[in-house]
Amino acid sequence: MGYVSLKVQYIDGTKIESAAGRYTFVWKGSVEKNKAKLEKKIESVLSDIESQIKEDQSELGRDETPLPIDSTALRDRLSALNEKLREAGKSTLKQLKKLREEHLPRLEKYEKQLAVLGERNSYSKTDVDATFMRLKDDHMQNGQLKAAYNTQISTEEQFITHYSIHQSAGDTTTLKDHLEGFEENYHSRSEAVVADAGYGSEENYEMLESKGIEGYVKYNYFHKEQKLAQKNNPFLLQNLYYNKEEDFYVCPMGQKMAFAGKGIRKSTNGYSSRVSYYQAKRCEGCPLRGQCHKAQGNRLIEVNHRLNELKAKARQRLTSETGLYHRSKRPIEVEAVFGQMKSNNKFNRFTMRGLEKVDIEFALMCIGHNLRKWSKKLLKTTSSGPDDQPKYNNPLTYGLHWVNYPYQPMAA
Ligand code: SF4
Repeated sequence: MGYVSLKVQYIDGTKIESAAGRYTFVWKGSVEKNKAKLEKKIESVLSDIESQIKEDQSELGRDETPLPIDSTALRDRLSALNEKLREAGKSTLKQLKKLREEHLPRLEKYEKQLAVLGERNSYSKTDVDATFMRLKDDHMQNGQLKAAYNTQISTEEQFITHYSIHQSAGDTTTLKDHLEGFEENYHSRSEAVVADAGYGSEENYEMLESKGIEGYVKYNYFHKEQKLAQKNNPFLLQNLYYNKEEDFYVCPMGQKMAFAGKGIRKSTNGYSSRVSYYQAKRCEGCPLRGQCHKAQGNRLIEVNHRLNELKAKARQRLTSETGLYHRSKRPIEVEAVFGQMKSNNKFNRFTMRGLEKVDIEFALMCIGHNLRKWSKKLLKTTSSGPDDQPKYNNPLTYGLHWVNYPYQPMAA
């Protein structure tokens, strides 16, 4: 209809509470801890029984070293023991009963919980697809852990052009899937993506570059590093002189910080970054030591050269004329849309449970938002002239009589 070009996406995310109960959490850490304890207990009970019935371990199908136990292995061991039970005493029978009726179901429960958790750290018992996330609840931004979904939207002219639902709390890891969903829906890519510092990671910058999308994406400390106090601080890593040809840094005392090795840093979602280390030779007795660093020994710095390159490109784009335009538009684009959905229309909690149903519920909210937006534009056009006319195509070419509101459907 000509209201959006689909050439730019203003992207942001918000967490929306699930319909699940608030105190129904299952934490991965506790499940793993309890499972390990139970496995240990099972192993010791099994060894007791096996030694009581005086059977050779190899006869029972076991190796000398106990294998990690799971519910299938436990079932096998129990049925192997069953065959020897005639010679067993009362206490052995009791232990075996406990293994079968108490430990085995518990072990199966932990295995199921870990399968549901997958890569996540938590889920809710009453909506297993929801993950516990910190939600900013009040105007002081105090957070509370609640079962929620991370919803991501792209907007243009305050119309929602794409949405996606995620089970991880961080925005950084959602960008790739979100953009791929957009491409799938429209069979084309946007020329530019505008997003806040929550998306500014090496992985995302690389991904945008490989897709040929101009990323107006901030990174942590983007605003801070523009401040004079930061720019003039000679001790900060970004302000140290770097000699690219000979690969060394120079510290504020004029000492050469030589290359000291390479390393790999893995992000939470498994992305590997290459980092280099540089170290000063003699920090002892340096008059600037107190201001320079607090670590013991000589100052060691870690540098991600590739990320620095990508950040420099992002900085250049963000401070360009187009960058300033997009940055000023982002709050009145995507943030305003979330404001309308959550604050004006009170959509703060899903009513449905499960990823599939939540997806449909959110899609309906987005459609509702777009229709509301469209109807407002139609009203504005008729009352205040052609300012709000679609910019990208003349809708009249599509036979849409938007000028004569209320809209009259054309005769078939
Ligand atoms: S403390 Fe070490 S790294 Fe820092 S200025 Fe002095 S010599 Fe250089």
